[in-house]
Amino acid sequence: MKIPDAISGIVGPIRAIRRQIHAHPELRFEEHKTAELVIKELRSYGVDEAHTGLGKTGVVAVVHGSGTEKRMIGLRADMDALPMTELNTFSHASKHPGKMHACGHDGHTATLLAAAKAMAADRSFQGSVAFIFQPAEEGGGGAKAMIDDGLFERFPCEAVFAIHNWPGLRVGEFGLNPGAMMASSNEFEITVKGKGAHAAMPHLGVDPVLVASHLIQAFQSLVSRETKPVDATVLSVTQINAGEATNVIPDHCVMKGTVRTFSTAALDTIEAGMQRICNQLAPAFNAHADFEFVRNYPPTINHPAQAMFAADVAAEIVGESMVQRNVEPTMGAEDFAYMLLERPGAYVFLGNGDVSGLHRASGHGLGPCTLHNPSYDFNDDLIPIGATFWQLLVKRFFEQTTQK
Ligand SMILES: [Zn+2]
Ligand SMILES: [Zn+2]
Repeated sequence: MKIPDAISGIVGPIRAIRRQIHAHPELRFEEHKTAELVIKELRSYGVDEAHTGLGKTGVVAVVHGSGTEKRMIGLRADMDALPMTELNTFSHASKHPGKMHACGHDGHTATLLAAAKAMAADRSFQGSVAFIFQPAEEGGGGAKAMIDDGLFERFPCEAVFAIHNWPGLRVGEFGLNPGAMMASSNEFEITVKGKGAHAAMPHLGVDPVLVASHLIQAFQSLVSRETKPVDATVLSVTQINAGEATNVIPDHCVMKGTVRTFSTAALDTIEAGMQRICNQLAPAFNAHADFEFVRNYPPTINHPAQAMFAADVAAEIVGESMVQRNVEPTMGAEDFAYMLLERPGAYVFLGNGDVSGLHRASGHGLGPCTLHNPSYDFNDDLIPIGATFWQLLVKRFFEQTTQK
C-alpha cells in the first residue's frame, strides 16, 4: 500500500481528533462542538477559505491548488452520531449516554481533515477542492439542507465524492459499483378504520385487525408480482397497533413500516400499488384505510464514469485485488444521494475489517460488528488510507481533461 510520508506523519494528531469526536457525539443538526472543532482545525492548516452554517451546522473549506485551473471538486464527510448508548468501555467511548458514533462518521470527519491538512500543505494539484463536512446524515437530510443553502452555487463542484467505512470488507479494501450503492428510504402509515364491537359478537362490528392482516399480505404481492424481480425492493410492516382488551374488537388499527428500492420506477409502483390496495381492499371488508407515504432519501446511485475513475485511483493505492468494482449494493440509505442528484460523482465503501480493529473492547458482540451496533468503532487504520485516496483522487481528477 502506498501511503505518502506526509500523510503517515499526521496520522497521530488526527487519530486523537477522531477519538475526541467519538467521545463527544452530537446528534443531527446539533453538531455545534464538532463543527467548531472542524473549523478550528481547518484554519490551523491554512486552508484558503472556511465557511460555517451551511445546512445549519455544516462546514465547507476550500483549498486552491498551485495551478490556474478554475475547476472545483467536492469531497464530503458526515459529522453526526446516532441516538443510542455505546457499550464500549475504552477511554474514547461516548461520554454522553444516548448518543454514539456507531456509524463511523467520526472517522469520515477525521479522514477528511487529514486530507485537508495534507492538501493545504502540498498544493501540487490543479483546481480547487471543497471539503464538505455535512450535518445530519442519519435521517435528517443534512446533505439536502446544505444544497438548499446554496452549496453548489457557492462552491461550484464539477463532481462530488464520499467515503463510508464498511465493516465486512477487508481493512483498506475499496468497494463500489457504477450504479446503485444504496436504496431509497421511505415510510408509510396506514390507519384502518372499522367498527368496534364486543369480541364475542364480531358480526356487529368491522374488525380492522383482520383487514390490516389482509392488507399486509396483499402488499407483499406488490414486491413479488408487480416490481421487476431483478430490481430489488423491500416492503416491511414494522409496527401494528390496535386495541386495548382481549374481548374488544377495536375500531381502528394503525400500521407503519418502510419501503426500500434501488429505482424510482420500483418506488412508484410500490407506492401506487399500496394506495390502490388500501382504496379497494379495505372497502371490500366494509372498512376504510387512510394511506400516507413519505419519500425520504432517494437511492444513492453512482455515476459510472466517476465510479470507475474512483476505482482506478483506489487501485493505484491498494492494488487491483483490493478494489471491488462491482460491490453488492445494500438496502440501507444514505443522504449523499441528494448530492449525486445534483452533481456527477461516486460513493465509495472503504473496508473497516471484520472486527474494526484491536482497539475495540473485547466481549462485545460475537463475530463482525456492524454499523449501528452499540459496540462499533471506526478503525483508525483507515485514516491514512482514506486521506491518501482523497489526495490522489484530487490530483488525478484535475489531470483529466473532461470528467462529465
Ligand atoms: Zn448510519
Ligand atoms: Zn453512516
